[in-house]
Amino acid sequence: MTPLPKLAVFDLDYTLWPFWVDTHVDPPFHKSSDGTVRDRRGQNIRLYPEVPEVLERLQSLGVPVAAASRTGETEGANQLLELFGLVKYFVHREIYPGSKVTHFERLHHKTGVPFSQMVFFDDEKRNIIDVGKLGTESPLGGCYLRSHPEWNEFANTNSRIRDIRKGPG
Ligand SMILES: [Mg+2]
Repeated sequence: MTPLPKLAVFDLDYTLWPFWVDTHVDPPFHKSSDGTVRDRRGQNIRLYPEVPEVLERLQSLGVPVAAASRTGETEGANQLLELFGLVKYFVHREIYPGSKVTHFERLHHKTGVPFSQMVFFDDEKRNIIDVGKLGTESPLGGCYLRSHPEWNEFANTNSRIRDIRKGPG
């Protein structure tokens, strides 16, 4: 059996939710009386529907989960994780602009997990490539979540298409 990763790292924008938190939505966010999460303008904010189940499954398998996002909207991103009840799944959250090499070096420092035993999910190839260079003996596993126009739920509210490809190729 393939050993499980020692740390699973998730991007936020277009990986956990179908928008850029600094551009497409308008913080601060709140939970309305019907339980939905909304932004300042009342726009309904949603996760990709599979996300809670995936995080729950990793937790049940004993795989710690961290967030690595380069958004400038740190406060809004953290607020969404709280409102969606996802904070409990993340042992660390590295949310600030810049190359994700920094995010991963800090995660390595905080957890002691070697890069070769982390797995990383991101929709942007540049991040997979940057972070992939960190693995010295064996490359850090990266899963490239390929962007599709259909993903954008503001464009197509019925779409649940997700195309997961292994590696930056
Ligand atoms: Mg992203």
